Amino acid sequence: MRKNIVAGNWKMNLDYEQGVSLFSEIVNMVKDEVVGNQEVIVCSPAIHLYSIGKLATGKVSTGAQNIHQAESGAYTGEISAAQVKSVGAEYVILGHSERRAYFGETDALLAEKVNTTLKHGLKPIFCIGETKEEREEGRFFDVIKEQLEKGVFHLSAEEFASVVLAYEPVWAIGTGLTATPEQAQEVHAFIRQSIAAKYSAETAENTTILYGGSCNPKNADELFSQADIDGGLIGGASLKSRDFLDIVKVFN
Ligand code: 13P
Repeated sequence: MRKNIVAGNWKMNLDYEQGVSLFSEIVNMVKDEVVGNQEVIVCSPAIHLYSIGKLATGKVSTGAQNIHQAESGAYTGEISAAQVKSVGAEYVILGHSERRAYFGETDALLAEKVNTTLKHGLKPIFCIGETKEEREEGRFFDVIKEQLEKGVFHLSAEEFASVVLAYEPVWAIGTGLTATPEQAQEVHAFIRQSIAAKYSAETAENTTILYGGSCNPKNADELFSQADIDGGLIGGASLKSRDFLDIVKVFN
């Protein structure tokens, strides 16, 4: 059975002490609330990863928000997959629309980052999603299909089994404009069908597909109750322990 996941993406927020303190609160609050096949993940800025990795328990894992595609070397300011792995993180967010838009990350580059991530035993949380314009023009299925094909469908079925997908419509991120449960479900079902066509029905059934974009304690329940939505990638609401906990508790 595929996992249900609630993952926080702190983005570039919280100083070191605030981050460690929020993570401790989260660990304490969720310890009795995480059900059997559920996992809670916090993807923090790199500066927090070592300390929160020490506080992480079996119920809460940690992840980075990016890695460099190279193994190591003269890449001033970058962080490698091996470094992320060495501080106990298990996941790496890749393909986030903010990195695609502000840092020029292309599908080809992301495919390389996916490979490096997997090579180091980390699991990618691979984000896909259309812009407002692409939705309005009715091109969103094509956009999502292309992001999947170029970013992760080069993987073998065995490699793909470590990938978590996140559908994040760009127009819903940080805007308070959530996709309706029907809009999100329609895309999630399409993603699952695309995985079945590429790999197998079994692989599709086993893949966790998260929704992200203005997800909060008020709308999480309805979103996560859709057949193909297996949890959320939470931005703003993951910065408040109470809100994040309420989203985690949707699976109780
Ligand atoms: P918000 O929840 O703040 O809209 O951000 C979503 C997101 O980008 C998570 O990766």
